[in-house]
Amino acid sequence: MDTDVLAGEAQCPGCGGWSVQVHSRCWRILADSAIGGQQTLVKVRVRRFFCDDTVCSRRTFAEQVPGVTTPYARRTPLLRGLLERSPWPWAVGRAHG
Ligand SMILES: [Zn+2]
Repeated sequence: MDTDVLAGEAQCPGCGGWSVQVHSRCWRILADSAIGGQQTLVKVRVRRFFCDDTVCSRRTFAEQVPGVTTPYARRTPLLRGLLERSPWPWAVGRAHG
């Protein structure tokens, strides 16, 4: 499942400023469980932006896709919720690890 993000700007998580200067693009592969309980890989193209604010400590930042990606998470919120309800404590530990 491929998902492309079409918004023309992104908000810097460091200073809250908006940027339209795209630095680069990359694919992120996320695990999801959208289809019939089967694990699915979701491929999301995210962009890295330059921050315009010269005093901001972040020179570049990757955009986030609400509901799909969260910072430093490789699983979508949907799959994480399933893991937290799972009967296997090791799975829960890995979800938080
Ligand atoms: Zn910034």
